[in-house]
Amino acid sequence: MSQPRLSIPQYAMALAHVASLRSEDPYRKVGAAALDHDNRVIATAYNGLAPGFDPSPDFWKDREGRQKFMLHAEINLCSLFRRGDAKLIATTTMPCTACMQTLCAYGIKEIYYQEIYHASDAPEIAALYGVTLQQVTDFPMSDYLIPEE
Ligand SMILES: [Zn+2]
Repeated sequence: MSQPRLSIPQYAMALAHVASLRSEDPYRKVGAAALDHDNRVIATAYNGLAPGFDPSPDFWKDREGRQKFMLHAEINLCSLFRRGDAKLIATTTMPCTACMQTLCAYGIKEIYYQEIYHASDAPEIAALYGVTLQQVTDFPMSDYLIPEE
């Protein structure tokens, strides 16, 4: 019997999850992954502060105040490739409105997310531009491990 295999969106989501583990944000860890037109991984990213910035320990105490400084996973992701290079991206949380706009500017046609973010206009933006925006929750990675004999 052949083993079940992750679909491409599930594969991208699993990678996004691994990337989220690297987030330095103690409250919200978001990861994202981009695949090219041959389903090759071209980038993974997570939310965090600008590269090289080392905050004081007090920085993380102000949960509200720090938000404007956090670079979202999708923005960090887009900084790693050129427009048109990515066919699809997966992100552990639905893109916020600004990130959805950025993903559209980068020409990304398929977006998969796990958690819904109700404050986002992403569904409306996706509908207007004909971008696939789909929830992916069924990728229990343990189901895909080869069972022990
Ligand atoms: Zn965002």
